[in-house]
Amino acid sequence: MNKTKEQRIVVVGGGLVGAATVLGLAAHGREVTLIDRKRPEVSAGKLGADIRNVALNPRSQSLLENLDVWTLERVVPYKHMVVWEERGTARVTFNAQELGRSELGWLIEVSPLLTRMWAAFGDRVTLIEGGVEALDVDDAVTLQLDGDRTTVCDLLIAADGGQSAIRRGLGVGVDERPVDQMALATVVRTSLSHRDTAWQRFLRDGPLALLPSIEPDLVSIVWTGSVAETKRRVELTDTEFCRLLTQASESRLGDVIAVDTRVSFPLTQQHVTDPVMGSQVVFIGDAARVIHPLAGLGVNLGFEDVSALLAIAEKTDNLCRPDVWRRFSRERAFRAKTMIRILEGLNRLYGAQDPGIGLIRNLGVRWVDNVSGVKHQIMREAMGLGHF
Ligand SMILES: Cc1cc2nc3c(=O)[nH]c(=O)nc-3n(C[C@H](O)[C@H](O)[C@H](O)COP(=O)(O)OP(=O)(O)OC[C@H]3O[C@@H](n4cnc5c(N)ncnc54)[C@H](O)[C@@H]3O)c2cc1C
Repeated sequence: MNKTKEQRIVVVGGGLVGAATVLGLAAHGREVTLIDRKRPEVSAGKLGADIRNVALNPRSQSLLENLDVWTLERVVPYKHMVVWEERGTARVTFNAQELGRSELGWLIEVSPLLTRMWAAFGDRVTLIEGGVEALDVDDAVTLQLDGDRTTVCDLLIAADGGQSAIRRGLGVGVDERPVDQMALATVVRTSLSHRDTAWQRFLRDGPLALLPSIEPDLVSIVWTGSVAETKRRVELTDTEFCRLLTQASESRLGDVIAVDTRVSFPLTQQHVTDPVMGSQVVFIGDAARVIHPLAGLGVNLGFEDVSALLAIAEKTDNLCRPDVWRRFSRERAFRAKTMIRILEGLNRLYGAQDPGIGLIRNLGVRWVDNVSGVKHQIMREAMGLGHF
């Protein structure tokens, strides 16, 4: 089968994961159509940085570099990571230098990156602005869009996020592990520099991450907590919030002196049991799985999907054969399940009130901090570099 003429490929969802897929497929000479409700725009909050930031690991960086959309503009490398907790004295520190690297990862503002990716489509990609409302899978996949429009394709790649309309439209269930927490995200200005360090403190009701942003005194915050407490943190005045955050971070970055708009997100962990339906629908990114933000891995796992998908597209002309997707399906489902279990376990371990568990946890953290082999392995996994 001639890959460019006979296979109509549609990607629904042009978030980071869908946009990377489209760029990769176009680079392989595939004809591809992207459907999304809206085009991205660069947005900056009142402190000058985008409130939506993501931590990307070196594996994701290398994908973006291969797609020709990597730049160091508005991108902050983090060289160290410090993890500590409210109810203990143990802490673990990760340094890029220990692995002979200059950084552990990068903090990226989402809207400039996304806008750059869309600009890179050029005329290689057909864009349809619209929302998918329903679909039908038979010999081909027929998508019903708002405004009574229809699009037909042979292969549908669903990258339409955690609330995926494609998933719901096809009645594909998810294995859901409810998380009784919400996340608050914002950007703050601090009196001390972030020192190129990602700080994470496990508080009684959830982890607080303080991540380096585009200026030395700008810090991106992802603060997970109980639903009631997160709602309260959103409602506080700026002065009250800054004071609370200064305390919660034990003034590691000095005083928090200004805060941008605070947004909150309900959290869940979920995954589709099989990310491939027949040979016609493939789920990737948050449409395939949603994980707890505590490890900053959501997009990174989505980019792993993209790399695996592009490796198949490079080797195979006919992407509409079920056998082509078997290994992808098995490996991506396993990865999602494993990560969800690890993050659930970590969140529970740090949330445990039992002093005995607290003691074991503190001893364990000290052990990890002192045993370089274990620490290096954890770092390599988080960076997407795999085993030694
Ligand atoms: C507080 C917080 C912090 C996070 N921090 C990190 C981090 O540090 N590192 C990290 O790797 N991950 C992080 N994540 C996770 C990360 O944000 C997600 O994994 C990622 O954004 C998912 O990308 P996606 O492209 O799969 O989906 P999305 O970004 O949700 O994109 C989906 C796209 O589909 C479009 N769409 C949806 N429905 C339709 C429809 N019916 N028709 C047409 N188009 C449609 C939307 O307009 C959108 O453009 C964090 C998440 C949260 C909540």
